[in-house]
Amino acid sequence: MSTTTYIGLGSNLGDSRQLMAEAVHKLAQLGGVRVSRLYQSLPMGPQDQPSYHNAVAQLQTMLEPLALLDELQRFEQEAGRVRLRHWGERSLDLDLLLYGEKNIINERLIVPHVGIFHRDFVIIPLLDLNQNLEIKGHKLHDLEIVQHSTLTVLADSDWAEI
Ligand code: ATP
Ligand code: CA
Ligand code: CA
Repeated sequence: MSTTTYIGLGSNLGDSRQLMAEAVHKLAQLGGVRVSRLYQSLPMGPQDQPSYHNAVAQLQTMLEPLALLDELQRFEQEAGRVRLRHWGERSLDLDLLLYGEKNIINERLIVPHVGIFHRDFVIIPLLDLNQNLEIKGHKLHDLEIVQHSTLTVLADSDWAEI
């Protein structure tokens, strides 16, 4: 039985759009994929870094959560990710936002992803993929952050050419 998962993609180093499109193609090898529109957002944390490209992918997969995290971290490495500073610039960040309805807490993985309710660059693309999505009983559509979003749309959902 496969599970519907949502993966947050972010990048602000290198050719972000290209790196993210490549990641989506790699995700497509793990199961069926749909993507949100492509957005631009202001950096979280240190402000002396470029703005981010963000998107969310919906992946239908048979992989267990930690096996999926392994794949996501491998894709980050393949995109040349180097850890410079906390919430600092990166070529590719892949966060496991949701794994079905599962709650997971262990040393490597917290799902739903922490901060999910406070990040417009996650909530808005999630809504592109599923207008009725609920997390822990909260309808994303009704969250206040949806009204106060400062995201810019860079491209329609065909940006990754899957
Ligand atoms: P944030 O998690 O606040 O978005 P970040 O993406 O910059 O910050 P990273 O440096 O990419 O953080 O990841 C740090 C660690 O977070 C990873 O080594 C991973 O084990 C752990 N982690 C915990 N939960 C998740 C999750 N849901 N998705 C991805 N990584 C997670
Ligand atoms: Ca992140
Ligand atoms: Ca991360």
